[in-house]
Amino acid sequence: MIKPIVRIAPSPTGKLHIGTARTALFNYLFARKNKGKYLIRIEDTDAKRSTKNYEKDILNSLKWLGLEGDDEPTRQMERIEIYKKYAENLLKEKKAYYCFCSIEKLEEERRKQISKKQPPRYSGKCRNLSEKEIETYQKEDREPTIRLKIPEDRGTIAFNDLIRGEIKERASLIGDFVIIKSDGVPIFFFAGVIDDHLQKISHVIRGEDHISNTFSQILIYEALKWGKKMPEFAHLPMILNADRSKMSKRKGDFVSVSEFKKEGYLPKALVNFIALLGWHPRKEGKEGKELYRSEELISLFDIEEVGKSPAIFDKQKLDYINGYYLRKLSDDELKSLIYPEHLAEGWQDKDKIIEKAIILVKDRMKKLSDFSELADYFFEKPVYDQEILIFKKSDKSLSQKGLSAAILKLKEIDKKDWQRHEVIQKALEEVVKKEKLNNGDVFWPVRAALSGREASPSPVELLWALGKNESLKRLSGALELINK
Ligand code: GLU
Repeated sequence: MIKPIVRIAPSPTGKLHIGTARTALFNYLFARKNKGKYLIRIEDTDAKRSTKNYEKDILNSLKWLGLEGDDEPTRQMERIEIYKKYAENLLKEKKAYYCFCSIEKLEEERRKQISKKQPPRYSGKCRNLSEKEIETYQKEDREPTIRLKIPEDRGTIAFNDLIRGEIKERASLIGDFVIIKSDGVPIFFFAGVIDDHLQKISHVIRGEDHISNTFSQILIYEALKWGKKMPEFAHLPMILNADRSKMSKRKGDFVSVSEFKKEGYLPKALVNFIALLGWHPRKEGKEGKELYRSEELISLFDIEEVGKSPAIFDKQKLDYINGYYLRKLSDDELKSLIYPEHLAEGWQDKDKIIEKAIILVKDRMKKLSDFSELADYFFEKPVYDQEILIFKKSDKSLSQKGLSAAILKLKEIDKKDWQRHEVIQKALEEVVKKEKLNNGDVFWPVRAALSGREASPSPVELLWALGKNESLKRLSGALELINK
């Protein structure tokens, strides 16, 4: 393959969507695999909905994922004059025409067609205006749009999609469509054709929602006499929730990359996860491997292995992958990522306890934001009911006995020795033996007294992490509670 040039072309009308991130990744993988180029183009011609803040979010999120472009991003609004020039040429060649129809008239026309069960499309009313009529309208200060004139004998438009094979549409179903709006700004897919051509884009890899635009774009390529130099197209399957519903912000689904970032997913994990939305390396077999480093993704990527059916967003799988990458981090790396967004108010300066808590809860974390939930009792004295102090196979009096004996024994341990797990472990074992109790009568109430939870790290680990003073304070509090 000649070195491909591909692009991701987000519209800054929202934060970077996870689906757009997947499209960016597939373009990136395709470029890297084939030693080509990967570009970013901001398609900001929808002035009403585009904002600089969204653009910033998109570029920052792409960077965070490691999907920065090989050149500086381009912006369509900075290139308006270029698109206009091409539209004017089309007007001169009579392949496009001014349309003076008002929005109200067009709306009325549309309504009528729908009520007659006809596919709504432009009637072609302004297609054959005389020079004189055009002049008259212009004098009336009407701001025209420019429409592409679709050749009457065009027949069927077909293209070969790299994922879906041949896709066809009858040209007669597409009405003459607007390429330049009345304010002089192009429709994004007109600007897109010109940019793709001038940037020598070899492959357009994008979401399947653009399939219908492709037919219009082919007509634009042909009008501009670039029909023989069209890029290849590949339309990626959409992404659905596990229940096959559409992902939607309104339903509370996370849809933007910045939300996943905030929740504490790691870029490596997200990249690994979204790479498998709609694609699975055939060489790896259908089931099985789910963990891939970026370099592996690059070397395995094949656009023709992307599926047609919708990809299912399996959050459990994302959590699993994220947990895996979290555990590969060193404790220091994890600390720097948790710090400070994932710490609750007032925890920031408790450096020593943060470090110990990380060591103890790391294995249970699926994402960075789990930390504050899993580790809150390291920072704040837990509040709990008496019952939690009693092991299921024990009873109140045995637990009372175990707890009070443990307190006495632990008090004897020197502060220096408190840092040694084996010393604490031995002390608790001795209590069991001496008092003729079961492990559960001692270890359970101590653990529950320190964490206030059914499940937590072992009592020895908690005693070590909380230190002698705090541990004994909590244990005495628990003894008071159980004696009530
Ligand atoms: N701007 C379009 C979008 O955000 C992409 C168009 C294209 O890739 O050709 O969906």
